[in-house]
Amino acid sequence: PLTTADLIEEHRICVCVRKRPLNKKELAMKDLDVITVPSKDVVMVHEPKTKVDLTRYLENQTFRFDYIFDDTTTNEMVYRFTARPLVETIFERGMATCFAYGQTGSGKTHTMGGDFSGKNQDCAKGIYALAARDVFLMLKKPNYKKLDLQVYSTFFEIYSGKVFDLLNRKSKLRVLEDGKQQVQIIGLQEKDVKCTEDVLKLIEIGNSCRTSGQTSANAHSSRSHAVFQIILRRKGKMHGKFSLIDLAGNERGADTSSADRQTRLEGAEINKSLLALKECIRALGRNKPHTPFRASKLTQVLRDSFIGENSRTCMISTISPGMTSCENTLNTLRYANRVK
Ligand code: ADP
Ligand code: MG
Repeated sequence: PLTTADLIEEHRICVCVRKRPLNKKELAMKDLDVITVPSKDVVMVHEPKTKVDLTRYLENQTFRFDYIFDDTTTNEMVYRFTARPLVETIFERGMATCFAYGQTGSGKTHTMGGDFSGKNQDCAKGIYALAARDVFLMLKKPNYKKLDLQVYSTFFEIYSGKVFDLLNRKSKLRVLEDGKQQVQIIGLQEKDVKCTEDVLKLIEIGNSCRTSGQTSANAHSSRSHAVFQIILRRKGKMHGKFSLIDLAGNERGADTSSADRQTRLEGAEINKSLLALKECIRALGRNKPHTPFRASKLTQVLRDSFIGENSRTCMISTISPGMTSCENTLNTLRYANRVK
């Protein structure tokens, strides 16, 4: 059978969908699961005929992607078919990016960062940590060991077009583009990491920093993009970079008509960056010479990951199963469809 690694080999871009289970709240309000996964690359959305008649379906919309993960899939499984093949890329002097895209509450942070819902934050099972684990395993392989590579991590947030360092008390950072069109985030902390445990500590620090000082943790995190990076250096020079991104919620459309100016601006900024991201990934997949990376801060700071011969990307589109999320789910799937 064809693996995602094979698909990435062909396309450079892998687009997957992950459906989460109905949560307690949805079950309590008797929300219906309107998503089915008839095969591993097909997902169907069953739109209800009317708001009243929930048992009959008007239209079944079918989408095809590289891989669909149903609500029984673990993070480890999702990881194996999405980010795992990209670990090789950074050892082969490439640039890799893995995005979680979807509406707030659909499972982006659960997938990337791990489970933070309970008291015991379990970031060891998120894709950030799983990727780090495999980077350290790969380092031990004889052909990579002899390269004497050093591993570093950064963790920052992009909020309303501004960059904040999550490993340095959320200090605000400037982004500069030099004469050679290299984009730099001035003063971004790049932490030396020697093992998976070192990385787990950074993820914890970053996550607590991400949500601190906010009235509602999820309200804030749903409005910002979090970027976690694993960087390989050889004699100080960049060898490869893996950027793992927990994107802002994509349901912001309504914000653009909000009465609150700040909310409106934030919504517009998120829409702009997600639009720019789509265009940049499409350009990467089609080997287009012009990547519109300047259109947003997010794509600007990821510039070096969108250009170059050996750049690969993977998008995990997370969807909520409930009928009440139907509209957002369809928007997510349409966006993902445009990216592939
Ligand atoms: P987002 O980051 O997209 O806003 P979260 O990752 O915070 O969403 O998920 C919202 C809630 O749903 C959390 O309580 C999370 O633990 C739960 N959840 C998300 N995905 C899954 C899943 N695949 N299995 C079980 N619970 C999940
Ligand atoms: Mg989140």
